[in-house]
Amino acid sequence: MEKQEQAGDRRRVVVIGGGVAGSFLAKSIQFLANVTLIDSKEYFEIPWANLRATVEPSFAERSVINHTDYLTNARIVTSSAVNITETEVLTADGQLIAYDYLVIATGHADAFPKSRTERLNQYKAENQKINSAQSILIVGGVDPDCWNLSAQKQQEKAVKWLTSKKVELKLEQRVNLSSISDVEKMYQTSNGETINADCYFVCTGKALGSTWIKETILKDDLDNHGRVKVDEYLKVKGRQNIFAIGDITDIPELKQGYLAKEQAQVAAKNLKLLMGGGKESKMATYKPHSAMAIVSLGRKDAVAQFPFMTISGRVPGLLKSGDLFVGKTRKDMGLASLCCPRLSSEYN
Ligand SMILES: Cc1cc2nc3c(=O)[nH]c(=O)nc-3n(C[C@H](O)[C@H](O)[C@H](O)COP(=O)(O)OP(=O)(O)OC[C@H]3O[C@@H](n4cnc5c(N)ncnc54)[C@H](O)[C@@H]3O)c2cc1C
Repeated sequence: MEKQEQAGDRRRVVVIGGGVAGSFLAKSIQFLANVTLIDSKEYFEIPWANLRATVEPSFAERSVINHTDYLTNARIVTSSAVNITETEVLTADGQLIAYDYLVIATGHADAFPKSRTERLNQYKAENQKINSAQSILIVGGVDPDCWNLSAQKQQEKAVKWLTSKKVELKLEQRVNLSSISDVEKMYQTSNGETINADCYFVCTGKALGSTWIKETILKDDLDNHGRVKVDEYLKVKGRQNIFAIGDITDIPELKQGYLAKEQAQVAAKNLKLLMGGGKESKMATYKPHSAMAIVSLGRKDAVAQFPFMTISGRVPGLLKSGDLFVGKTRKDMGLASLCCPRLSSEYN
C-alpha cells in the first residue's frame, strides 16, 4: 500500500520515441518517476548494427531488443504520438496520456515492423534477397554531414576500398526514387544511364520524425529543417516541462547515437533535479561536440574521423568493426552482452 502511495506521488514523465535517446532516458529514470514510453514499435534497435544484421541476420538477435527487456518499471505504449497539449499526449490508437514532464525523442520516422519477430524476419528476407542476387544497386550511401572536407583523404581510401571489393561507384547522379521498383530490374539515373541490378537498397537518409509536431502546440518550436529548438539544458526553448533529445533537436553537431545517449543522461539529471524540487539554475548543461565518427569497412577495417585527425585500417577497425559496440550498448542497457559475433571472411 505504502509502495502504491509512493508510486502515486511520483511525477509522470512521458517519453515519446524509443530510439537511442528515448530508450536510454526512460531506462535511467524508470525507478524515479512514473514513466511512460510511447514508441511506434515494441522494440529498441541499435541502428548502427542494422547493416550487419542485413548480411548476417543472427546479429539482430542481439541488436533488436524488446522494450520490456530493459524497461521493467515503466509503462510501454506501442503507438505513434499524433498530438500534444499542455498536459497530455494523444496517440494514433486514441489514448490520452497525461504528463507532468514530457520528453520528445522521435529522431527519425521509419516504417519498421511493429514486433521484434517481424523485424528479425525482415532481416532474414533481405538477406535471402542479397544471397540470391548477382548484382545489387545501392542508392545513396554517403552522409555529407559525416564527411567534411578535412576527411577528403579518408574518402579516397574508402573509395579505394570499395573499388577493391568490386563495388562500382557512380557519383554525382541520382536515381528517381518515385519510380523505383525491382520488378523490371532496370534503374534510370539522372544522366540517362540505365543500371541493371537484381535488387536495390535505398540508403539516402531518413526523414526527421517531426512531421506530427507541426500540428501541435510545439509547431513554432521547430526550426526550418523541422528540428526542435532546445536550450543548453535540453528543454524546448521557452517551455518549463518539455525536453527534447537526440536527432530531433537543433543542436549544431553530427547526429549520432553516442551523443543522443549523452543527451539522455543530461536530460535525466535535469528531470531528477526538477522532480526533486531543485532549482533550475542548478541544471546540467549540454555542449555540442566536435565531429567524430568511425565508419566500419567490413568486420576488420574502419575509417575514423577524430576532431584533429583521421585514420583508417585495422586500428579503428579494432575499436568498432567486430562487434559494432553492440555488447557495450547492451551492457549500458543493463542487459547481458551475450556472445560476440563469429568472425567470418564472408562479406568482409
Ligand atoms: C545505418 C546507421 C548507422 C549509424 N551509425 C552510427 C554509429 O556508428 N555511431 C553513432 O553514434 N551513430 C550512428 N548512427 C546514428 C544514430 O543511430 C542516431 O544518431 C540515433 O539513432 C539517434 O537516436 P534518436 O533516439 O534521437 O532517434 P532514432 O534512433 O531515430 O529513434 C527515434 C524513435 O522514435 C520513434 N518515433 C518516431 N516518431 C514517433 C512518433 N510520432 N510516436 C512515437 N514514436 C515515434 C521511432 O520509432 C524510433 O524508435 C547511425 C544511424 C544509422 C541509421
